[in-house]
Amino acid sequence: MTIVTGSATIPPMPIPRRPWLHVIAGCMSSGKTAEVVRLLTRRQIAGQSVLLITPARDTRVAPGEVVSRTGTRFPSVVAPDAEAIRKEVARINPDAVAIEEAQFFGPELPAIIEQIVAAPRTVIVSGLDQDFAGRPFATIPELMARADEVTKLSAICVVCGNEATRTQRLRDGKPARADDELIVIGGMAGDDTYEARCRACHEVIA
Ligand SMILES: [Zn+2]
Repeated sequence: MTIVTGSATIPPMPIPRRPWLHVIAGCMSSGKTAEVVRLLTRRQIAGQSVLLITPARDTRVAPGEVVSRTGTRFPSVVAPDAEAIRKEVARINPDAVAIEEAQFFGPELPAIIEQIVAAPRTVIVSGLDQDFAGRPFATIPELMARADEVTKLSAICVVCGNEATRTQRLRDGKPARADDELIVIGGMAGDDTYEARCRACHEVIA
């Protein structure tokens, strides 16, 4: 470390990492991916190393890249399970880690994220906080409780134009049944379609 007085040439100090868990939750089409990319990009501009991870089940993702619905692209790594996330983070050792579509990782995800955060390191997690029936979805509600910061994004209801917080599942154009199996990947799963709706317009057949 050298400090040259009188010329303002001071080599930058490495910025100490801090443990921080930020969960970005919301229904489909609420801009979660665009927000993750925004948060990572501003860190890159500041010289930090970042790693973006997606689950293998997310069919919206091209290999090696995340594409948001607004067309924003960002390099990514696919992890088949939460243990693969832990190994990849240990190998790359980034300043910050982001995990997309985190609802598709198993119940072991919160414990592994706690380990990664404790390194210390910033972890950004995004995912659907509710399934198509409006129920708390997978580990996202638990991660929201464990988080230091929670951002809950809303979309616009395609029916009435109000703020949408729910993901409507349609089978052959009709609302899905509450006991239908859970395969929820925005707009891409089988013959089902998904759209953002508000609480009043959201429909589930009991
Ligand atoms: Zn509505």
